[in-house]
Amino acid sequence: MSNESPVVSNFIRSTIESDLASGKHTCIQTRFPPEPNGYLHVGHAKSICLNFGVAQDYQGQCNLRMDDTNPEKENEEFAQAIASDVKWLGFEWAGEIRHAADYFDQLYAYAEELTLAGKAFVCELNAEQMREYRGNFEVPGKNSPFRDRSIEENLDLFRRMKAGEFADGSKTLRLKIDMAAPNLNLRDPVIYRIKRAHHIRTGDQWCIYPMYDYTHCISDALEGITHSLCTLEFADHRPLYDWVLDNITIDCHPQQIEFSRLELLYTMTSKRKLAALVNEGLVSGWDDPRMPTVIGMRRRGYTPEGIKLFAQRVGVSKSENVVDLSILEGAVREQLEGSCPRIMAVLRPLKVTLTNYEEGVTAARTAPYHPQHPEFGERNVPISREIWVEQDDFAEVPPSGWQRLTVGSEVRLRYSYVMKCDEVVKDAAGNVIELKCSLDMATLGQNPVGRKVKGVIHWLSAEHAVAAEVRLYDRLFTTARPDAVRGADGEYADFRQFINPESLEVVTAYIEPVARDLAPETRYQFERLGYFVTDRKDHIAGEKIVFNRAVTLKDTWKSAA
Ligand code: ATP
Ligand code: MG
Repeated sequence: MSNESPVVSNFIRSTIESDLASGKHTCIQTRFPPEPNGYLHVGHAKSICLNFGVAQDYQGQCNLRMDDTNPEKENEEFAQAIASDVKWLGFEWAGEIRHAADYFDQLYAYAEELTLAGKAFVCELNAEQMREYRGNFEVPGKNSPFRDRSIEENLDLFRRMKAGEFADGSKTLRLKIDMAAPNLNLRDPVIYRIKRAHHIRTGDQWCIYPMYDYTHCISDALEGITHSLCTLEFADHRPLYDWVLDNITIDCHPQQIEFSRLELLYTMTSKRKLAALVNEGLVSGWDDPRMPTVIGMRRRGYTPEGIKLFAQRVGVSKSENVVDLSILEGAVREQLEGSCPRIMAVLRPLKVTLTNYEEGVTAARTAPYHPQHPEFGERNVPISREIWVEQDDFAEVPPSGWQRLTVGSEVRLRYSYVMKCDEVVKDAAGNVIELKCSLDMATLGQNPVGRKVKGVIHWLSAEHAVAAEVRLYDRLFTTARPDAVRGADGEYADFRQFINPESLEVVTAYIEPVARDLAPETRYQFERLGYFVTDRKDHIAGEKIVFNRAVTLKDTWKSAA
C-alpha cells in the first residue's frame, strides 16, 4: 500500500549515511524540540516525521524535548497536547520526555565556566541601548561599556543575578564574541536574562532564564544528539551553536543541519496566528477540524498514515517548500481509500415512495464493505416502502447527459433494484418534496432485460436509516496565502478577512444502521460523497451520532481552479 512506498533519499539521509559509513557515529540520535506555547501543526508534523523517521530508519533514537525557556508563554496543557500528538502520529520517543528545564543547573554551570574564562560578561544596557549598540548589516556594532569588567566582578554579578538581587531586565549575561562580526548573532549575544516568572517545571526556583540559542546547543550535546535538524531560519544561528559548544567543556558536538520550512497554501503555519484564530473565537478551538493543527487534522478524520504519506511526498530540501493543500488532502484520501469500509449516507434527503413495494416480495441484499477487501465483511442493505435519496440526484429539468433521476427515467439503487421515477410531488411553493417511484422487481442483482440503465445512486431505507449530524468541512481560507496578501498600501492584509464563510455546513443526514453504535474516531467512506469520521468529542454511540467530513472523494478545488 501507499504508506509502504520506498523512502526517498535526501541530503540529510546522505549525511547520516556517510557519518555511519565513516564511523563518525555508530548510532543516530535525533530530537524533536517543540516549545510548549501552542499546539503542533502540519509543519511540526513534517519535522516529527523527519526526526523520528530517520532515527527509525537507521536504528537510532529520537528524543522529545520541550524547549521551555520562555516561562510566560508556556503551559502544561500545550506540553501534554504535544506529547499526545506525537504518540498519535505513531512515534515513540527514547526514554522520558526531556525538558530544557531539566538542564537549568548545567546550563548555569556552563555560564559560570564561560564567565570564569573571560568569555561572558554582565551587561547593564537596556533593550533599546542594546539594539543601538548592536548595529545592523551595514554598520558594525559597538562594544558595550560593561564589556571589560573583571572576571571576578562578572562572576559576582552573575551569581547575584541568580540570587535575585536585581530587578527584572536590569542586567543580562552576554557572550564576549565580536561586535563587528558580519553575522549579527555573534555580536555578543545575551545568554541569560532576569525574569521573575513562574515556570511550569521549576516553579519559582529561578529568576534568571537562559536564552534559546544558548540552551538549545547545550541541551542537544547533553543528550548526545548526533544530528540536530532544524528549519532554515536557524542557519544564521549555526555559528553561535558551534561557538558555544567549542567554548565549554563538553564532549559531544552535534551537527546542526537545516531544511526548509513547510508552508501549506490555503492555511497558515504560524502558531501565533493560529492562536489568534482560537483566542478570537474564529474557530471552535485548537482542535477545530478546519485547523492545520495535528489535533485538528485528527478530529477532521485524517489518519497518521495519511499525514506521514504527505510528509514523505513533500520531501526534505533546502529550497522553498510551499505546497498546495490538495497535496495533503490527496495523501489523506489515498490512504483512506484502501482502509475505510464503505457505506451509504444521504446528506440532503429527498423522500421517495416506492409505490409497488410489497412486504415479503421486495427483497433486501447483502453488500460488501469494500470491493477490494472481502475481509472487511458484508452487511444487509434493507429496503422499505419509503427511501431517502440525495436531493441533487433528482433534476426536474435535467442537463444533457444526465444519468440520474428525472421523471420517466430509471436508475439503479446501489446494491438493489432498478427504480423508475413516475411522479413528482411539490409543496405549495413549488418545491419538490417527494418522488413516487416504482421498482423493477426482476432487477435485484441482475441487469434489466432489453435496456441499459447507466446511473447508480446511493439511497437508504427510511425505516432503517439512522439520523446523524454531519459536519461538512471545507478549507478555512478562500485565498492561497491568507497571511501574505498585500493591500494597496503595500501592507499585509488581515488574514481574518479571508476566512471562508462556507468552511462549515451542518446537515441532518441519514446513514446506514451500522452508524448507530460506532466508537468515536471510526472512519467510513460514504459512497459517492467522501470520507467521514465520528467526532471524537461530540459523538456518543447510540445517542448522538456526529460525523465530520474528512475529505471529499474528488479534489473539487483543483478542478475549480
Ligand atoms: P515558534 O518558535 O515561533 O513558537 P516554531 O514553529 O518554530 O514556532 P517550535 O515549537 O519551536 O515552533 O518548533 C519545533 C520544531 O518544529 C522546530 O525544530 C522547528 O524547526 C520545527 N518546525 C516548526 N514549524 C515548521 C514548519 N512549518 N515546517 C517544518 N518544520 C517546522
Ligand atoms: Mg521555535
